[in-house]
Amino acid sequence: MTFDEAKKCLNDNTIKRNHFNRAITLICWDLETQTPAKGVVRHSEAIGFFSEKLYKIFTSKEYRHALEVLNTSRENLTEIEKRIVTLSIKNSDKTAKIPQHEYVEFSELTALAQSVWAEAREKNDFSIFAHTLEKIIEFQRKFISYFGFEGHPYNALVCEYEEGMSVEKLDDFFNTLKQEIVPLIARISKEPQINTEALHQKFDVDTQKKFSKWLAEYLHFDFERGLLAESVHPFTLHFDKNDVRITSRYHAELLLSSIFSTIHESGHALYDQNMGDDILGTLLSEETSYGIHESQSRFFENLIGKNILFWKKVYPKLQESFKAELSDISLENFYRMMNIVEPSLIRVEADELTYPLHIVIRYEVEKTIFENPSLSIHDLPKLWNSKYKEYLGIDVQSDSEGILQDVHWSGGSFGYFPTYALGTAYASHILYHMRKTLDFDTLLEKGDLRPILNYLTQNIHQYGGLKTPSELIFNLGQEDFNPKYFTDYLKEKFSKIYNL
Ligand code: ZN
Repeated sequence: MTFDEAKKCLNDNTIKRNHFNRAITLICWDLETQTPAKGVVRHSEAIGFFSEKLYKIFTSKEYRHALEVLNTSRENLTEIEKRIVTLSIKNSDKTAKIPQHEYVEFSELTALAQSVWAEAREKNDFSIFAHTLEKIIEFQRKFISYFGFEGHPYNALVCEYEEGMSVEKLDDFFNTLKQEIVPLIARISKEPQINTEALHQKFDVDTQKKFSKWLAEYLHFDFERGLLAESVHPFTLHFDKNDVRITSRYHAELLLSSIFSTIHESGHALYDQNMGDDILGTLLSEETSYGIHESQSRFFENLIGKNILFWKKVYPKLQESFKAELSDISLENFYRMMNIVEPSLIRVEADELTYPLHIVIRYEVEKTIFENPSLSIHDLPKLWNSKYKEYLGIDVQSDSEGILQDVHWSGGSFGYFPTYALGTAYASHILYHMRKTLDFDTLLEKGDLRPILNYLTQNIHQYGGLKTPSELIFNLGQEDFNPKYFTDYLKEKFSKIYNL
């Protein structure tokens, strides 16, 4: 195969891959937003069908040969092509290690598992999900043995979501978080709490929806290349930069839930919408890692959305939408209510300070699962509950509010959770260096978010998968990821709010 033929082969297969991926993404969108219960099985089978097509592309002899040819003539490739070839070889090698029937079986299993998990959670009964979860974990163990690993077996899964990450690095990171955060929470627990009842009045849902749309626009979400819908669990899906979809959720008594879901998902969407045109349609027009994706949603949710300066312009607009409910609540009190620190059971509703501990717990549970092949599936709820007692001092009363609360395991996403905490901490690292060139506080206060978005686009978004997570982080200030910026930020912010 000549160099030109190899290039054509890669291009042809990329186009096919994009079409199949688009079909899978569309079915996923439908499954999450509107598929009736009895339609789920057929949809899942269709995902299995398209996954098999993808498997065949990635593992075909011709395709793998083309990659080899290109890899041996790297000097003739552009920087973008080099990275595409590197990542394609890595993906293809990995996929080829999984036997085809297992690859398809696993895709179908995880597509179906979501509804099993949802039923178990609704009925508050772990045993409904236990068997399916056991099968998913068995697959994961097999995949680990196929992929191979150095050090801890969990490493094989962790680096799927965060290139270059390992148990050794995560242990250090989470230990730093525990050392700084646990004592801070203990100090805060002795301080008087603000009453948040006012936030749980009835807030008209249609008005919340209108406000969410306004808010997404205010953050520069581009509605010509995206839409905002509704789902039980908010998420972002992107086909490419020209079609990025986000969802939010609305409950009359939970005003902040819709606001922060919308801000969080808008942060994800801005990453997807602002990738460079030079990588459009290539393998690189996806996030470089889940941690970096989460750094963008957390940047908007926490560093912008939970900052009082942001609300100077936005709160009057919210008060105008909910005159009767909010006119008596001052900006200062509204800010303190949204930043109340309270150990709780549900990760997605956790405050900024206790949130990382929810991730520590999932990380430790997952690590235990993969270092302990003899661990019984039925012991997991007990392990989960004991860690909530240990780190957050609370008793888990039901599986729905405990081990069944998150969807991830039903999708086979083991190794994913650490990226939530990493991303949250990356955001503070980014802000630390952003402040060297931008007057972040003044821009927030003026409601001029464009320069902030431009900085993120220039340093993160435009590259998509072109640079590794550690390269992106390092290039901000010629410094490796430093979790101290995150813990310093937390200490400063919450000491001020609680007058410590
Ligand atoms: Zn997120």
